Amino acid sequence: MKKIIIGNWKLNLDHLEAIQLLQKINYSLPEDIEENIEIVLSPSFTSLRSLQTVISSDKLKIKLSSQNVSQYSSGAYTGEISAAQLKKLDIEYAIVGHSERRTLFNEVDSVINDKVNRLIDSEIVPIFCFGESIDERKSGTYLNFIENQINEGLKGLRKDKVKKLVVAYEPIWAIGTGEVASLENIVEVLDYVKNIINKKPFFNDDNIKFIYGGSVSPDNAEDILNSKIVDGALVGGASLDPNKFLDIIKAVEL
Ligand code: PEP
Repeated sequence: MKKIIIGNWKLNLDHLEAIQLLQKINYSLPEDIEENIEIVLSPSFTSLRSLQTVISSDKLKIKLSSQNVSQYSSGAYTGEISAAQLKKLDIEYAIVGHSERRTLFNEVDSVINDKVNRLIDSEIVPIFCFGESIDERKSGTYLNFIENQINEGLKGLRKDKVKKLVVAYEPIWAIGTGEVASLENIVEVLDYVKNIINKKPFFNDDNIKFIYGGSVSPDNAEDILNSKIVDGALVGGASLDPNKFLDIIKAVEL
């Protein structure tokens, strides 16, 4: 399966800085990148339109993701941005269930599930994030916790509608901490999650990518990305540095 590398820029960069970073990354991308690796960038909402314009006019081999989406389709929801509005901008992906949204903005499983369903309805690929806290890991309850996040977050998805889905294991203790999960940890969780998802009615052999996120850097990317079970990475901090992000991409053995 083609690997996917997603850069999550979080709350950084205005739209002019975002264009510059896009251009720096694009400039050094290997020629045949598109056949081998899918590159997705996730800037702030305010940069999506500008980046999409550059990507389509210069025919860049980079795709875009939003960092969030509303659980509502339209109406009196001040400050929200709908899946249909993103689709109109040709945005292909959207991150949902990121631990920063779950913990800092109190997004519960049912809200995340509504968002996943709105995205699927609009034919945007959800990058569905899940993962345990350090307490759940230490107490040994993390697999049950994750199973619940998967079952609740991916409820109600219809077989005929799920063309693509990205499922991202992001242990909270590894995000932005420099403490990357061991390959053993990653394989255990992704294997467990694959077994749960394999039984879902929307599963087929090639529509779901299982990826890892949490302090991915050029130092650890090779081991993680070349593991058979890992289909790619969600990269936060290191995606803001074009050299680091490119080194992560180049760590994938083609
Ligand atoms: C993230 O925010 O999704 C993430 C993985 O961040 P970092 O790479 O900085 O740990």
